[in-house]
This record gives sequence, structure tokens and C-alpha cells, in this order.
Amino acid sequence: MNEHLRKALELVALGVPVLPLREGKGPFGNCAACAKNQCGGRPNMKAAGTCACPRPCHAWAAASTSADIVTSAAWAAAWRRAGAVAYHPGGTGVTVVDLDNTDAVAWARETLPATRTVATTRGEHWIYLGTMQSSNGVRPGVDIKSLMAYARWLGPGVGEMIRLPETVTTLPRYVVPAGAVASSPTPRATWTRAVASGCRHTERYVRTGLDKGVSMVTGHREQGAASQAFGVARFLGSLHQECPGPCGLETLGGEIIAAAASVGVPESYAARAVDRGFAEAGVQVPTTQMA
Ligand SMILES: [Zn+2]
Ligand SMILES: [Zn+2]
Ligand SMILES: [Zn+2]
Repeated sequence: MNEHLRKALELVALGVPVLPLREGKGPFGNCAACAKNQCGGRPNMKAAGTCACPRPCHAWAAASTSADIVTSAAWAAAWRRAGAVAYHPGGTGVTVVDLDNTDAVAWARETLPATRTVATTRGEHWIYLGTMQSSNGVRPGVDIKSLMAYARWLGPGVGEMIRLPETVTTLPRYVVPAGAVASSPTPRATWTRAVASGCRHTERYVRTGLDKGVSMVTGHREQGAASQAFGVARFLGSLHQECPGPCGLETLGGEIIAAAASVGVPESYAARAVDRGFAEAGVQVPTTQMA
């Protein structure tokens, strides 16, 4: 029995859905009957089909916890040519934050709560308990693999697995699609006490918080800056929950949007991130839409 199949059967015994990967670490291509999804796809796919192909077609959607299927003749050819074993994280109730390189790992160590980690070729997998929608490129070098995705199995890892935190579940929300073009930023008003007649904080307090938020946003690029803008707006908004208002939050928001735009986030994405950040903080703000 080959090494990959042996490893796969150990996972099957634990109830983890497995599939073989090619030498190049990608899934095997579909068979002729499944090519280009002409079979309609598997019942568990997003567009559900009736495919009952016995081969490991359709990547993660073929992942199985059945020893009979995994050791079947139809899978045998794939195991003979396999270069790795993969599993379906969502199918076993976990989420893998796939950190592709040392920069991504450094970011995770600074940003995400510690959990179980598995070393990969150039980076790490951080594994959390709970599932979410998968999303590629939530930041440079960072993919989220959970529902409808596969991840390489590289061993059980080390450390205690914790529940999926909000810092991870909110990551995909403000992914800027590849190819979205940043326009030149709209000039924005500066927050002063004059626009905040009903704020109970001092100008210095508000200005210091805003400057800190702006530097958090500009310290990131593109996707990262959009989710920072969301977090900063939510935090700054929360400081004004008790103020009778107005606090000039739309002006604060405008400065956050401008900061995100200055590092390449299209303004409409930045504006949406800021509006939702304020909304989550439970503060009323006339929408900070683009001028
Ligand atoms: Zn097939
Ligand atoms: Zn099929
Ligand atoms: Zn206030």
C-alpha cells in the first residue's frame, strides 16, 4: 500500500474527508464523463448536480470518509500517481488559514489569535475550529480554506485549536477584487471640534484616535487596508456610542476612506468598509458615500 493511501486511511478512520492530489499538489482532472462538468457536478457542490462518478473527480467535492471508496479500484490509479493527500476542512468542521510565505506568517503572528499550526513548504496552516466560506487572497499570501475547498494534509500540527475568531471570519469581507482600479482620491474635510458640537470627547482625544487609525490603514496595502478601515471605523464609532452627537463621524469616516484610497483601495470599497464598521459599532452616521 502506498504512503499517501496509508495516510489517507488514517484520516478516514478519524472521520476526515480525504482526496488524492497530483504530483503538482493540485487535484486530479475530471474523467471524460465529468470533463467540463458535463455530468452536472456532485450533489454537494454549489450548483448541485447528480454526478455519482466513482473516480475522485471534482476535487474537494469528491473527498470521502468511506474506506471502501478511498480504497476502491476507481481511486487506485489516482493513488498510484498521487503526490500528496488533501482533506476537506469544512467537511471536518475546521477552517485553515493558509499562510503562503514568511511575510504572511509574520502578519498572522501579529494579528490572529494563536491556535494549532502546521508547517508547510514555505509557510504555515493555522487551523481553527468552526467553518466559514472559503476565500482566496484575503491578503497577499493568505487564503482561507474551509467549506467547498481542500487543503494539503501535512500532519496534525502543534498547539491547541481554538474557535474561529472574528478576526478571521471578517477577513474576506473587504477583499478588493483583482483588477479593481483605484481612482484619484476625493479631497476630504479634516475632522475638527467645529463639526462635532455634540461630542463628549476632547478634540485631542478624537484626533489622536483618528491619527492612530489612519496610520493602521496606511500601514497596509489594498485588501489589508480595506479590512483595517472596517476595524478602525468600528473602533472609532464605538467611542461615540454614548455621545449625544453630532460627533462629525462622517468627517472621521472621510479621513479613513482617504487613508485607504491613498494605499490603493478603490474609494467605493473603502466607503463601504467604513459604513459597515460604523454600523457594527451601532452609531448613526449619514452614509459616508463618495462625493
Ligand atoms: Zn468522473
Ligand atoms: Zn462528475
Ligand atoms: Zn462623540
